Amino acid sequence: MTDNREKTASDFREEIKHAFEPGAKVMSADRELRYCLELQRNRIAKRNLKYKEEMVHKGPFPDGLKNVRSWRDVHYETSWTVDYIDHNITIQRDGLKTYKHGERQAIYETVVDVRDGEDVSGDDYCCPNCGAVSTISELQEGCRHCGTSFKMSELYPKVANYFFVYDVSGRAEHMWLTVLKYGVYSLPVNLIMCLYVLYTQYGMTSPVDYFLQPFMLIRMIMVMGAMLPIFGYFAWIFDAFRVAAKSTPVFFEVANARKKFASRMSMFCPEFTFESFAARIVSLLKIVAYSDNRDDLPTYSGKDLGTVFDNVVDISFLGSMSCKSVKERNGIVYVTGDVYVKTTRDLGDRIKTKDEIYRVKAGRRIDSMFNTDFAISKLQCNSCGASFDALKTKKCPFCGSECNLENNDWVIYDIRNVELELLIKRLIAAFVILWLLLIALLDVKGLI
Ligand SMILES: [Zn+2]
Ligand SMILES: [Zn+2]
Repeated sequence: MTDNREKTASDFREEIKHAFEPGAKVMSADRELRYCLELQRNRIAKRNLKYKEEMVHKGPFPDGLKNVRSWRDVHYETSWTVDYIDHNITIQRDGLKTYKHGERQAIYETVVDVRDGEDVSGDDYCCPNCGAVSTISELQEGCRHCGTSFKMSELYPKVANYFFVYDVSGRAEHMWLTVLKYGVYSLPVNLIMCLYVLYTQYGMTSPVDYFLQPFMLIRMIMVMGAMLPIFGYFAWIFDAFRVAAKSTPVFFEVANARKKFASRMSMFCPEFTFESFAARIVSLLKIVAYSDNRDDLPTYSGKDLGTVFDNVVDISFLGSMSCKSVKERNGIVYVTGDVYVKTTRDLGDRIKTKDEIYRVKAGRRIDSMFNTDFAISKLQCNSCGASFDALKTKKCPFCGSECNLENNDWVIYDIRNVELELLIKRLIAAFVILWLLLIALLDVKGLI
C-alpha cells in the first residue's frame, strides 16, 4: 500500500467524525460518497436529530492486517484498509427515546487509486468564468469565488466506500482479556453448575449449609475462578459461531459474486473490478435513499419509491453484495445484485435499526471510453449557460430545463426490498429438506 492511500484512509477516518457538522466536506471521499454524506447530513438536520458518532481508535494491530485485500483492473487499484475502533452512536431529540449503540468494530475503507495517473491536485487553474486562480484540488466543489461547477476527473486516491464489521475476534485486545470478559458474562452458568455439583455430590441444599461450612464456600469460589477462563473460552467460541452462522450464506454468495461479475462483465467492459462497482452502487443507493427530490437525480431513473426511505437516517453497508445477473441491451450493460445493509430509521418516538436486503439494478453505457488522463471543463446548462453541479441535479436550477450533462456513469434503474422473497425461498428449501428427511426416515422404518 502506498503512503498516499494510507494517508487518504486515515484522513477519511478523521473527516467522517465531523461529516454531519454544518458545512463539512469530506474531501478524502470520492464525489459520490461525498454527496451521500451531504444528503445524509441534510436528512438528519431536517428531522431535528442530534446525531453523535464516536470512533475511538483501538490499537495496535499487526501491520500485515492493514493491507487486507487489493484488486487491480486495467485502470484502477482498489484496496481495503482496516482499523479497529470503539464505535458509539447516540441519537437524540425531544420526545424521542434516546438511541444508544456501542460496539467494538473493524472499520473497512475501500480506497481507489489510478494505476498510472499523474498528481495534478496542486496545479493552478484559472476559472474560465471569473478568472480567479485556484489549485485543481480547491475546485472539486466548484469555484469558491463565483460558484462555477466543473466536470473533472476524480483526484485519486479517494475513499469510495466504507463499512463496519463487528469485531468478533476481539483482535484489538489481548486474547486473555477477551476470554476473561466472556468468562464474566458466563458467571451465572458457572455458578449454577457449581451449585449443582455441590448439591449432587455433597447434598448441600440451603445457603445455611455454606455458612456452616465456610471451607466449602471458599472451595466453590476457587473452583469458579478456575473455571472462569474455560467457560469464557467456550462462550467466546459460541458467540463467534453465532455471528459467523448469521453471515455465512452471505459470504458464500459474495465470493461467487466476484467471479460471476468478472466473467460476465469481461464480455462488455473488462475495466471493472467488482469492488469498485459495489462501492459505486452502495453510494448511489444511499444517494437515492437520502434524496428528497429523486426526479432530479441524474443517477436514478427508476419508478417512484414513495415514502419507503423517508425516515431513514443511516444506511450502513454490511460489506456484502451479490451479483445476480449481467445483461446487455441497446448499448447499456445492466447489472443486478443484492446489497446487504443495516438501516436506521426515525419512527418519531424511537429509533429502529434493521438488517435489510435491497435488489438493485444498475446500468452503464458501454460505448463511453475510459480515460485516465486528467480533464477539467466548466459545467453549464445547454439552454441558459448557468453553471451547476450535474452530479446532484439534472434540471438546471436557474432555468429549469433538463440537461443530462453526465450520463456515462452508472445509473440505478430499480431498487426493491427482497427480504421477504429471500425468506420465503429459504423456508421452501428448509421445507423440502425436512420432507425428504421424513420420506427417508419412513423408508428406513419400512413404513412406505
Ligand atoms: Zn470562478
Ligand atoms: Zn439553465
